Amino acid sequence: MSTVDLEKYIIDIPDYPEPGVIFKDITPLMASPEGLHEAVDQIADHFKDAGVTKVMGAEARGFLIGAPVAYRLGAGFVPARKPGKLPREVYTQDYALEYGTDELQMHKDAVTADDRVLIVDDLVATGGTAVATAKLALQGGATVVGFSFVLELEFLNPRKVIGEEFDQDVFTLI
Ligand code: 5GP
Repeated sequence: MSTVDLEKYIIDIPDYPEPGVIFKDITPLMASPEGLHEAVDQIADHFKDAGVTKVMGAEARGFLIGAPVAYRLGAGFVPARKPGKLPREVYTQDYALEYGTDELQMHKDAVTADDRVLIVDDLVATGGTAVATAKLALQGGATVVGFSFVLELEFLNPRKVIGEEFDQDVFTLI
């Protein structure tokens, strides 16, 4: 087990982006050579024997943590993007927000039935983004092998939401 305290790199921002919300700012962790290295290594180590061929991360902070995890695992990286950002044919997946819905998209040829996909993001709150990203992988015919997040907001019960659709491993660092 590592002795690096990752929590010390996370800054709580009260009332951001709106009153009553405490935003978890992960940019100090990304800016720290020690913090970034430790977070990426812990996730990659946990899934090193899972046969991961692709890591998927949602725009935009999922890219930051997902791409280095993919590199460490010897896997590819697939971005799940907001509508209209990808230039070729896409799959689209809806997901619920607090008010209304949003969509994520993935290039249709980004994964195949041979792919084993790990879903990575900086933070899981309700679990909606992670489930939508994983469903994009399923639309592409791939297998989802797990979920990993630097931070989990346990009080929002994301494991329940993920668990309703997926029984795969959910691994979080903080
Ligand atoms: P969920 O879909 O699980 O409710 O929200 C998770 C998504 O919103 C992630 O993509 C994450 O980057 C973003 N997010 C929500 N709240 C926070 C927060 O407090 N800090 C950070 N860094 N990201 C957040």
